[in-house]
Amino acid sequence: MTKQAQAIRDVQDFGEEGGVVPVIDIASTSTFLDPLDMEKTFHGDLQGCYLYSRHSNPTVNAFGRKFAALENMEAALGVSSGMAAIASSIEQLVPHGGHIVSSRTVYGGTYAFFKNVLPKRGVRVTFVDTDDLRAVENAIEPNTKIIFTETLSNPLLRIAPLKELSDLKKKYGLQLVVDNTFTPLIISPADFGADVVIHSCTKYISGSSDMIAGVVTGSKDFIQSLIDVNSGVVMLTGPVMDAKIAHELYLRLDHLPIRMAAHSKSAAFLATRMEDLGIPVIYPGLKSHEHHTLMSSMMNEGYGHGGMIAIDCLTSTQAMNLASQLQKVRFGLYAVSLGFSRTLMSCPSVSTSSEIPADEQKEMHLSPGLLRLSVGYTGDDEVLWRRFKDCYQQLLK
Ligand SMILES: *Cc1c(COP(=O)(O)O)cnc(C)c1O
Repeated sequence: MTKQAQAIRDVQDFGEEGGVVPVIDIASTSTFLDPLDMEKTFHGDLQGCYLYSRHSNPTVNAFGRKFAALENMEAALGVSSGMAAIASSIEQLVPHGGHIVSSRTVYGGTYAFFKNVLPKRGVRVTFVDTDDLRAVENAIEPNTKIIFTETLSNPLLRIAPLKELSDLKKKYGLQLVVDNTFTPLIISPADFGADVVIHSCTKYISGSSDMIAGVVTGSKDFIQSLIDVNSGVVMLTGPVMDAKIAHELYLRLDHLPIRMAAHSKSAAFLATRMEDLGIPVIYPGLKSHEHHTLMSSMMNEGYGHGGMIAIDCLTSTQAMNLASQLQKVRFGLYAVSLGFSRTLMSCPSVSTSSEIPADEQKEMHLSPGLLRLSVGYTGDDEVLWRRFKDCYQQLLK
């Protein structure tokens, strides 16, 4: 068993009568036996009392403890979505007039938030290739507060050199904020010096495409600052996690290690077969991938190179035709998102990355015909491969 799987397992909470799983504490408000304690709690003079569930909730806290163990961080806070995790962290860390250096190849929603919403809040963002360390350093300004990057970028599957970015943030007194949605367990950004690590729990953490949720991990002080009664962005703008969702995710974390290994195993199988057939395939587990060695040097043992594959079909029409055919033969589903038990397929240039203007898509080498696969872990790899191969050869060869 790997270090992360053990850390998750060792967080142990019981039900009220000794049940092997904790109960869901659904109360929105908590009783104070001594009215004076409520007054002290509001003034911040008394810690550890449950007050109101927008501030803190026992079930959401239990999920936070388990998630902090997973990310090797001091603390974690469940929130209502991945975007809430990103937006709240940034609002808490970057004041009006502040500046962010961000990777250019971020999730489309993040890109649109940075480009269209943050300027209205007086925060500017400079986009760079985060694997070009000189470009990152050149973009740093006196008002820069954070460097933002995804560990494994979407949809081009490039790896951010977290250790080197961390050296830079130390040199300039910044914070390194990492979106680790694509690589839970596989890479632990905290081990390379990340200050804040966020996830969209909607994806692999949920694993069932049945909820929207997110999480922020970081130092105890930072997580506490998010729920401060007088200045916490999560407390005061309200994108908290519901206790019922927290309970679901708490239980699912136990089998995340098995699921991640299974996603990676099937993805590696398919990517290898695709490459053997001469298909232009991007998968960091392949030696042909530019960042194969870098990723391998940063990975935790036992979870593989992840479940995401991208193949270049040259035009979006060809990508969509292939996906449509693949859906008919039950290879996968044409849907955005990732981390589901079955394979999900989408064409980023006309969907999740469509917020990025065409000329910028070109600049970042995002082919209009890229088909992104989030490889599931159900079904027989050999059967699925045969279905893929038949469709591909019919349509694109
Ligand atoms: C989906 C996703 C998000 C946004 O998460 P939501 O839960 O949909 O708000 C952020 N970053 C990455 C990398 C994602 O894939």
